[in-house]
Parts: sequence; structure tokens; C-alpha cells
Amino acid sequence: MRKIVAANWKMNLRRESAATLAGALAGDLRQLWLFPAAVHLNSVRLQLSDTKILLGAQDLSVHKDGAHTGDISAEMLKDCGCEMVIIGHSERRQGYNEGSDVLLRKLVRACSAGLRPLFCVGESKAERDSGQANAVVESQLLILKRLAPEARAMVAAVAYEPVWAIGTGVNATLAQIEEMHAVVARKLGGIGMHATPILYGGSVTPENARELLASRAVDGVLVGGASLNYDALSRIDDCAKAQEIAPRGVSAQLEPAPPPEALALLFERDTDDFNIEVKVKPAAPAAIVAEVPATPPSDGALSRYEQEMGLRKPPTQPLPRTSQGRLQPVAPTSQGKLPPVRPVSQGSVPVAGDISRKATAPLPTPAPAKPTTPVAPKAPSEAPTAEVKPEAPGAKTDKPEKPDTSKNSGPAKKSNIYDDTDRPSWV
Ligand code: PEP
Repeated sequence: MRKIVAANWKMNLRRESAATLAGALAGDLRQLWLFPAAVHLNSVRLQLSDTKILLGAQDLSVHKDGAHTGDISAEMLKDCGCEMVIIGHSERRQGYNEGSDVLLRKLVRACSAGLRPLFCVGESKAERDSGQANAVVESQLLILKRLAPEARAMVAAVAYEPVWAIGTGVNATLAQIEEMHAVVARKLGGIGMHATPILYGGSVTPENARELLASRAVDGVLVGGASLNYDALSRIDDCAKAQEIAPRGVSAQLEPAPPPEALALLFERDTDDFNIEVKVKPAAPAAIVAEVPATPPSDGALSRYEQEMGLRKPPTQPLPRTSQGRLQPVAPTSQGKLPPVRPVSQGSVPVAGDISRKATAPLPTPAPAKPTTPVAPKAPSEAPTAEVKPEAPGAKTDKPEKPDTSKNSGPAKKSNIYDDTDRPSWV
């Protein structure tokens, strides 16, 4: 499997420029993971059919559905054609106080909907300067230990992104990256995630990508600023194309990921406190594997992902439906109301560095590695228990299918998606 290039477009671009950039990359037969802003998911997705570019979202709601103004649920993202979602990015940890509780709930939501998390970890400058980088990253990874093995198997990648390197133009040195990736690999290996790719993120540019991607410790890169520029992203991807991911450890074999149906986790009690009670739908894994046909499905978001990853068998059962019976992904033709974006993928291969030759409108040319905001030093502790606040009783009216939660008011049962035996001290 070749090394991964994931592009986090953050809150940048406009509908047409996002679609044009995606179309240009698709026209070059790139194999990327693209994370556009949520409002651009649809227009970008229309450029990606029959390509090896995978679509992901930058965030998701901790809620399942209902009266949560401004939120976007995991199922909505799946319905939009997303296969992955970024969780734990430092800009959300810091800017929105997302700590362990919130992140764990987002991980569960994503996995439950069949969205594969791209989970980010990384220490701040203050934490590194005080010698806590390893401890901080290890504690951030503990969340994954609290997922059920089926959910862990769905994690698309873990990205090590030192906060001080994001958007600053100062990338970590290769020695620092290799040391931290070894820490991450050891932690992941301890919970059976030997084969989960480990990406580096933080001021990756075409200039440093070759060295980074040549390292056996780096399975790919998560690129922010430079990913907004067609030429820069193409050159980074060229560096990745030449490199294979090196297997980590002898026991690197993952169990085949179960199809989404087996991960249809039923939220029995979905209060906004941390103790989400989750039940895995009774589905014998052996039976699921036995149902995999000789010919895998040739389309569908998840099957493309599976083929891309080359690790697991594609699902055989229908894609998950919402409680209203909606099915995903949406057929591209159903989106005819969008203003047309010139189908650049059907033209000639673009000249590297000159996306405007095939675009209906020139792309903005943001400076790839220019820092946008100074990185605020972060206190060593992320105070994870502070951010999940229970809603007022009766505030939730959006989950009619849930059983009466009053029956669950006794001591919290041990969830089978969290391993409470290893509950970290900070929750
Ligand atoms: C990121 O936001 O994940 C990132 C790595 O950004 P940048 O490449 O701009 O540092």
C-alpha cells in the first residue's frame, strides 16, 4: 500500500474553487484523502466519482440527530458520501475545548455510522518544552483503548501533529517525528492497532515532503495550508506515490473490519454525560465474514475505501439506513441543482502548477505554509472532564426511538464499547 496524503482544507475555498481543485486532482488520477469544509462536501463529491480520492469531513456532532442547531451528524456526513472524518484536531481541541470526553463520543458516533476516524494527537510547545510530549500523546491515545475492537479497526489513521508545527511553517525534525511515531506505534500496537497508519502533520510542504515520506516511520502526511495549492499538493503526492508503507511488527494482521451493519451500535441511553451505554447489534463476526462474496462490490464508499486500504474485505450487506429508512450514498445525479462546475476530470491532464488552465475560475492562491494564527501555548492538562455538560432534563426531544432512560438511572453498566478497566485518571 502506498503512503497516504490527506488534505485538510479547513475553513478555506469557495464552492467553485473547492470543486475545481478536487476535479483537477481527480483528473490527475491522484489517490488522496480530501477533507473540504462541510458546505463543500457535495460539490467536491461530484468531482470524485470513479476516482481513488476519498472524501472526509473535518468534524462531526457528538449527537445522533435532532435539535442541535448548527451540528452535522455522522449519518449526514455518510449520507453526503464521506468515508472518513477528522477527530481530535488541535484546532478543535484548543479552539472549542474538545477534550477526551467529547472526542470519545465523536469517535463512537463516527464508527457507529460507518465513518472512519482520522484521529489526531500532538503536544503543544509548552508541553514539549517541559518534557511532556510523550506523556501527552500517550494519554491522548488512551481514548482509542476505550473503543471496542470493532471500532478500533475502523480508525483510518492516527496523525501525529505537534501543535507548534501546525500552520507555523516550522515542521518537526525527522528525528522528532520518528521518536514520536515510535511512541504512537507502541501505544497502538498495545491495543491491537498494529496496522493503523501513522501520519505526520505540521507544515508539510513540497520541500520537506520527500524526506518525511521516505522515512519508514511515516505512513503518510496530513497537509493543511499546502493542500490548498494544486501544485504543492501534487508535488507532495508525487513524493508519497513513490513510497510504500512499511509493515509494523510481525503481528500486524488486522481482523477484517466488520461491515457497517455489525457496527450498528445502538445507543440505549444517550444522555449528554460521559456514560453512553452502547450495545453492539448481535451479529456473529464469523457469519459476516462467511457472507463476503467472491466478487467484491465495485462501487460504494466503503468498498472503495477497503480496496484502497487493501487490508480488509468489503462489506456485503446494504449500506446502513437511518431510522427513516434513508440510504446512502446519494446518487451524484440527484444533485443537479448545483451550478455546474466544469468537469475538469474529462479534459487533458493539467499542467503541473497551472490549475487555472482547466478551471472555470482561478483558484485563490493562499500562501501554503504561512501561519494564520499564532499557536497559543497550552496548559499541560486538557481538563477533559470539564467540557461535557449534561443537558437539562427534557431538553432532548430528538430520539423517540430510545428507551425510557429513567429505567437506566441505576449504576452505569459497563459499556462494551469502552474499556472502563483502563479508564485514564483524567476522566
Ligand atoms: C493541519 O491542520 O492538520 C496541518 C497540518 O496544517 P499545516 O499543514 O498548515 O501545518
